[in-house]
Amino acid sequence: MSAAEKLYVICGHGAGDPGASGGGYNEAERVRTLASEMARQGGSKVSVLDTSKNWYKSGLVNAALKASVGRNPVIELHMDAADGDGPAKGAHVAIRAGFSPDAWDTALADFLASYFPGRADKITQRSNLANLNRAASHGINYRLAEVGMIDDKVDRDKFNANVPAVAAEILAAFGIGGAPAEPAPPSPPQTPQKGEAVYNFKTVKKGSKGDHVSLFQSAYNERFGGSLAVDKSAGPATHEAIGDAQSRLGIKKDFSCGPDTWSHLLGT
Ligand SMILES: [Zn+2]
Repeated sequence: MSAAEKLYVICGHGAGDPGASGGGYNEAERVRTLASEMARQGGSKVSVLDTSKNWYKSGLVNAALKASVGRNPVIELHMDAADGDGPAKGAHVAIRAGFSPDAWDTALADFLASYFPGRADKITQRSNLANLNRAASHGINYRLAEVGMIDDKVDRDKFNANVPAVAAEILAAFGIGGAPAEPAPPSPPQTPQKGEAVYNFKTVKKGSKGDHVSLFQSAYNERFGGSLAVDKSAGPATHEAIGDAQSRLGIKKDFSCGPDTWSHLLGT
């Protein structure tokens, strides 16, 4: 496995959103503690991106992020909570549906699943996580790590007692730390498997609600300097923005952001 030239770290939640909680701890604080330990150990090979931001809500996984990270890997840190039905404990990695895990994903998932066991799948492929979709649309090498269940006492105690070890193992999955590694070219970006469209997001039109609406709103703002509220809800302003985007992109103006509009809007 080639070592990452640099690992970029995004902390889940924050900016007033504590994320999941358990045992008096919250996810936003725990993953920031982990990230700062990763930065301490990794030195110049680790860049923890602005921890004051909520990267999901603010739509910052965008072209500007791609411009700063290039082909280097990005990891978004979370802790999970068992909401009733799901698995009660354990860690895993989530990547964009349609992508094959790369060597970094596999090494990371092998560590997490052995250190925080309990999940049936150490890697899950998700199509409904906004930051994975945004990263995919910009060609960013990206994964989410759910570093154990914060509401499980075994996972939480193990995490809390071993932050330096967890940080070291995550870095090791990207070839950072330990013996000085030979400089190696970064892995190529994850590529879609054959037959999988990258822009298979749901259609956005007036009245649509959900993460795909936020993705349109943030993409529109970014591309055209708009000021749409990124609020998961397509009201009159978003309706007008879809038509405006279609006019500017030179495609059929039907106020419905389907596959053709997505690919023009997100295409590079
Ligand atoms: Zn989370």
